[in-house]
Amino acid sequence: MRPLFRLSIFWRRFLNIRLFIPFILVLFLVFEMTGKAGKTFAANLEPPKIVIIEFHGLKKDIIQDNLASLPHFRELIQGTGDKQSYIQLSNVFTTIPAASVPACTSMYTGLHPQNTGVVSTIWFDRKSTKVRTMISYGQQRINRILTENNVKTLYDYVGAAGKTSLNTMLMIDKGADWSIKSGLFFWGNSLTVAIFKNRKWFPDPWYMDHKTISGALTGHLFSYRKSLSGMLNKKGTIPDVTVIQLLGMDIMSHHPGASLTKQNATIDEIQQQYAENVLDPQMGRLIRFFKTNGIFENTIFFLVSQQGSIKIEKHIPDNIVAACLKPAFKLPGHSKENPSSEAIVMPGACTKEIYLKNRGTRNWLHPPGLLTEVKTAIDLLMDDDTITESINAMVVRQYPGERNEGIVENDVWWGFDWQFYQNGSRSDKAFFNALLPLKSGLHHFELKDYISESLTRQYTRETTPDIKLINKKGHYFEVDFKKYGHHGSYYPEDTVLSFWIAGPGLNAMIPQRHTIASATSTLDLIPMVAYFLDIEQPTGIDGRNPLAGLRP
Ligand SMILES: [Zn+2]
Repeated sequence: MRPLFRLSIFWRRFLNIRLFIPFILVLFLVFEMTGKAGKTFAANLEPPKIVIIEFHGLKKDIIQDNLASLPHFRELIQGTGDKQSYIQLSNVFTTIPAASVPACTSMYTGLHPQNTGVVSTIWFDRKSTKVRTMISYGQQRINRILTENNVKTLYDYVGAAGKTSLNTMLMIDKGADWSIKSGLFFWGNSLTVAIFKNRKWFPDPWYMDHKTISGALTGHLFSYRKSLSGMLNKKGTIPDVTVIQLLGMDIMSHHPGASLTKQNATIDEIQQQYAENVLDPQMGRLIRFFKTNGIFENTIFFLVSQQGSIKIEKHIPDNIVAACLKPAFKLPGHSKENPSSEAIVMPGACTKEIYLKNRGTRNWLHPPGLLTEVKTAIDLLMDDDTITESINAMVVRQYPGERNEGIVENDVWWGFDWQFYQNGSRSDKAFFNALLPLKSGLHHFELKDYISESLTRQYTRETTPDIKLINKKGHYFEVDFKKYGHHGSYYPEDTVLSFWIAGPGLNAMIPQRHTIASATSTLDLIPMVAYFLDIEQPTGIDGRNPLAGLRP
């Protein structure tokens, strides 16, 4: 049942001892100097402490369906003796795209991507003519965009109410009083462990999650004073809101290791195994720490996730779209500067975004011509069998009031009836006839209303692509053909999640158990936290509080 983890025990122990002697020494010295961490803290103080644990990439219902084999999750949710109250949100929609960077930014700000400015994982900005990506060593790019756009985070709202917050691991930490970052030390060791264990240059999920929990509880090398232990020791209490982001589930779902890959395991099986072998013991560490320090009884735990995962059924070479467009469009080289290019293609996943320049005016801010640029590009794509075998839908951008080619533009997108067009004459008239209202173009998607609303709220004027290909389920544009699972699609496995709000601190506020099966959103996180902390509900955000009325 657990060969992957059993095999690695030797290396795990060896590496831990070898690499963490300095860590352990420093911790020992800190403990010696400051006395035993964790003075007992009186329970049942009002209001409760909130601990948000984000299981990155955790699919809907994995915890619920496997509670019988997850003793620590069971204790956290149901309590010992199965007497605790809880709230289960069983139908939580994330924002589109269901990918770490934009989805987390939206969850921790309560705003759709177009309002945060972090519109995707990678996008083209027509104004600066630069490709934007949020990954950097300093991990500050998201925070900078939020600051530029005057966007408040969960931490800002908590701080404005005179309360305190701690962030662990999450890149978005604008406004947090304390932030425990992973740092190069952490990533370096994680990669080293992964190379020894899996012979792969990819972070080891167990190591990441174990060290993230350690970071939250006792701090990394120099961050003891920011950790929960450090705070209990110094202040006798923990912050009002603590966020712990555990990245392991996402990493595991992308690269589950040789044994599960060989078994052709489903993503559900992979996630179940990871929940049992890694996450549940980590929850055990957390529960023990909270109990030992007398803070368990007054804490409410939010167990959340920002996206799911899908097994890749077909890898499509990522450069295929650019190769199709090459005969008619000048494409950029490796440079990030793109003023002279005529088409910019984003790296793939389950969707593919194409930005087109108006070749007449040569200005990226002018809408490209429907016939001169958009139709030309689509004609080239329609000739490629690999592309037409993998796409499910296609959408074309509108520019209301900006482009006059004899067809009305009132919306953000058209749905493009590519099958009708591909099989027809491909005349200009046929092209215009294939441009449908967005929802009609998405008619074969189970979640067409949600997708159409979310697509409309994803981009800004400068960042909306002109053509978006939306693949069939499990078909992914990829450079890494060994990648096993992925996300970012518009299918329920990626976009619909479940949250739990639980822990002994909940009983005093909401004494019954509730399941909320109506549609809720990751955007609702901040309103829900505000509700439990009795702070003012934020105004002007896209999230709402689905718990209103539950408190007696
Ligand atoms: Zn991922």
